[in-house]
Amino acid sequence: MTSLPASSRPSRPNLVFVMSDDHAAHAISAYGSRVNHTPNLDRLAAEGARLDAAFCTNSICSPSRATILTGTYSHVNGVPSIYSEFDYRLPTFPECLQRSGYATALFGKWHLGHGPASNPRGFDDWKVFPDQGDYTDPLMLSEAGEEIVPGYATDVITDLSLDWLSRQDPDQPFCLLVHHKAPHRPWVPDEKHRDLYPVGSIPEPDTLFDDYATRSRAAREARMTIADDLNEEDVKERLPDHLRGEENRVERTRWMYQRYMRDYLQCIQSIDDNVGRLLDHLDEHGLADNTVVVYTSDQGFFLGDHGWYDKRFIYDESLQMPLLVRWPAEVPAGSCPDEIVTNVDFAGTFLDLCGLDAAEVLPDSQGRSFRGLLRGEVPGDWPQSMYYRYWEHDDPSHHAWAHYGVRTRSHKLVHYYADGLGTPGSSDRSQEPEWEMFDLVADPRELNNVADDPAHAEERAALERELARLQSHYRDEPYTG
Ligand code: CA
Repeated sequence: MTSLPASSRPSRPNLVFVMSDDHAAHAISAYGSRVNHTPNLDRLAAEGARLDAAFCTNSICSPSRATILTGTYSHVNGVPSIYSEFDYRLPTFPECLQRSGYATALFGKWHLGHGPASNPRGFDDWKVFPDQGDYTDPLMLSEAGEEIVPGYATDVITDLSLDWLSRQDPDQPFCLLVHHKAPHRPWVPDEKHRDLYPVGSIPEPDTLFDDYATRSRAAREARMTIADDLNEEDVKERLPDHLRGEENRVERTRWMYQRYMRDYLQCIQSIDDNVGRLLDHLDEHGLADNTVVVYTSDQGFFLGDHGWYDKRFIYDESLQMPLLVRWPAEVPAGSCPDEIVTNVDFAGTFLDLCGLDAAEVLPDSQGRSFRGLLRGEVPGDWPQSMYYRYWEHDDPSHHAWAHYGVRTRSHKLVHYYADGLGTPGSSDRSQEPEWEMFDLVADPRELNNVADDPAHAEERAALERELARLQSHYRDEPYTG
């Protein structure tokens, strides 16, 4: 692509894309959180749009990141699991923006592999953690090599971002990716937040003691339970002897839940503080009006919901991404679009907002720009369903089984297809294929699997057809053993 001379370009907005890691929408007060307060994220929602049906298409870290960069599903971009490395078989939206004249930078978590083949590309400046990174005095990699950057990771990433912003040419549009490590496990908060959300004060979710009755074996066998799969390192305290054993499971769950959530929410408080620093910087430098600010997380997270931590499943707490978008020039303040969008749509939307046509510069992208939704317009042919596939079958530490499914505005159909290949290290070959179906209007918590209920047979048949249509549309092949 050739760059247009600056004089012939219309004024293009800047883009600041802030992505945290494992931050569930229901831990943001603008989304109705019962467990914490996030005043700076709330400010973003009040001044822009809060998207209420933003979903990831594969609820795990590296795959969501590859999807966001390329606008494609995991089977197209080659990153179906955290064991995959990004290989640039497809271009990314930052590369497109850089080629079209944007100044570009990335700071924080990358998690798409390292080395010449997988390092960040399309950025004038980048500094990232190796793999997951550390919360305290993190080691960071850049073109110049490795160095330890003293400080708390969430502050460090913001410091690097603000420093880069302050060095930019005011006449050149910029695209800045701010990728936080928090609030990913192992949940190490900043000392200054150690008194927030004390043990005993955090409300429990309705489904903390879910017994998985009516659900698949996949749900019953996942090793993501608050009671038995969080360890003492996670909660930084030795489990008292009187809470051990099956007979003490309820009390142990409560004890673990309070400690897990305390640390998780404290980590989020640093995210919120630092989003505030970023917004203040934009205000102080006169950049707020012409900068699109996006806040999201690579996926959702279980906050004790269904008795779990972690993600991976298509259940809504894991499927939903928080998505806040502020751009005073186009996005009405305090709006709440509720049409379905996915992380496959992000790249094309960002390019559209920045004056590029994804069909031209990202020809393999599978998403659709939701710029119209942000303006309050709903195209008559906007999709009424989304396709999901989780590939990392039987991961040895979480034991979540591969599945695919479809979510509409009112229903969900899920197929655990019993992938016989498995993830390296997996052991279970014995499961049979299973289905789950939920009526999300009658049963928003997804507790009552109606897949085999004759009263829902017609709806299930329609969902199966829609699932097949989406697999064909996205050129994904169903698993056939
Ligand atoms: Ca993640």
